[in-house]
Amino acid sequence: MSKDVLTVGTLSAGHGEKRYGENEFVVQRGPYRLPMWLINGAGEGPTLVVTAGVHAAEYASIAAALELGRSLDPASLCGRVIVVPVVDMPAFTARSIYVCPLDGKNPNRVFPGDADGTASDQIADWLFRNVITRATHYVDLHGGDLIEALVPFTIFSRSGDARVVEASLEMAKIFGIHFLVGSDVAGSTVCAASLAGIPSILTESGGQGIWESEDVRWHVNGLNRLMRHLKMIAGGAPDPVPFTLLDRFLWLRSDHAGFWYPAVAVNETVKAGQNLGCVKDCEGRALQTPASPADGTVLFIVSSLAINKGDPLLAVGA
Ligand SMILES: [Zn+2]
Repeated sequence: MSKDVLTVGTLSAGHGEKRYGENEFVVQRGPYRLPMWLINGAGEGPTLVVTAGVHAAEYASIAAALELGRSLDPASLCGRVIVVPVVDMPAFTARSIYVCPLDGKNPNRVFPGDADGTASDQIADWLFRNVITRATHYVDLHGGDLIEALVPFTIFSRSGDARVVEASLEMAKIFGIHFLVGSDVAGSTVCAASLAGIPSILTESGGQGIWESEDVRWHVNGLNRLMRHLKMIAGGAPDPVPFTLLDRFLWLRSDHAGFWYPAVAVNETVKAGQNLGCVKDCEGRALQTPASPADGTVLFIVSSLAINKGDPLLAVGA
């Protein structure tokens, strides 16, 4: 095989070719099939890896990855793009919130994975070794889960060395979503990738189980802007857009099982100490009245009335 052939597992695409297929590997002693596109551009350039469906009910992000994989033309591409539209297919089929139904783990806390671990660890391990580490640039598409509303924002990893963090922040600015949030959540896709030296961002748009075209567009337009910036596709450098850089990503969680009544909306500006809502018991007694830990903006809110002990309630970017 020529060095120009792009190979991932048992799939390959020659120079100027696009290949769709499933790679099969063993997870919990059974076959696991991971769909992907390999798009090997006719011209030379970087390698962009795009994943979605690490959280498999975040549909706007999955719709965007499908659109990219279906539409990208290798004849007019410089470089290589690998698109994995649904990482956690068991969760997609089960419409599972937050976790992989095979082991109950949040897949975005187990990267870079473990070949000897449970299902999520094994899926992450295969994906990380065979796909993510091939990237010169990595984008993981997310959104609000089935029970989350959010204002679009882009997380850039603050893990890894300064040069990688700088490059990740630059990618986040180019992507074009207004709010940028630095994060170093251990086990997340982008933190594992950036620790391996790969500039990485995680984009959030959509939520509540719907995939409105405006939410899908934030992801698709951002990928388009990034590929233009990297000179992978025609169109020239994208125009800069104004952004707000949020240093801290403050999650508030429920101390109780009960009923959640938010008092604020996504994208609302809040003050330190401001009441953000109430967790109540069945009779309406207040169990918890979370206050904003800082001046900031509400980035996401859990929109489900049902709340479990330990569940996120909302997050403030500050
Ligand atoms: Zn997610």
